[in-house]
Amino acid sequence: MKFLLVLLAVLVLLWLLRGSVQRRMPPPRGKAAAPPAPQPMLRCALCGTHLPRDEALPGRGGVFCDDAHRAAFEKSHPES
Ligand SMILES: [Zn+2]
Repeated sequence: MKFLLVLLAVLVLLWLLRGSVQRRMPPPRGKAAAPPAPQPMLRCALCGTHLPRDEALPGRGGVFCDDAHRAAFEKSHPES
């Protein structure tokens, strides 16, 4: 009976050690974990802030960081 208890304790210890080793390993690098492809950075025509192409708002005279800058730029540069 004592032998069974020792065997059980050893098995539990091994199981716990195995779990902690697996937790320390970094997650596998799959396609889902890959970072997004780099995007070209564009410059706001009004304030000069650089922003990724996906976030840039195209407007007359260039791209802008937000609607307010696009409106301000187009107001100060009236179409001729
Ligand atoms: Zn801006």
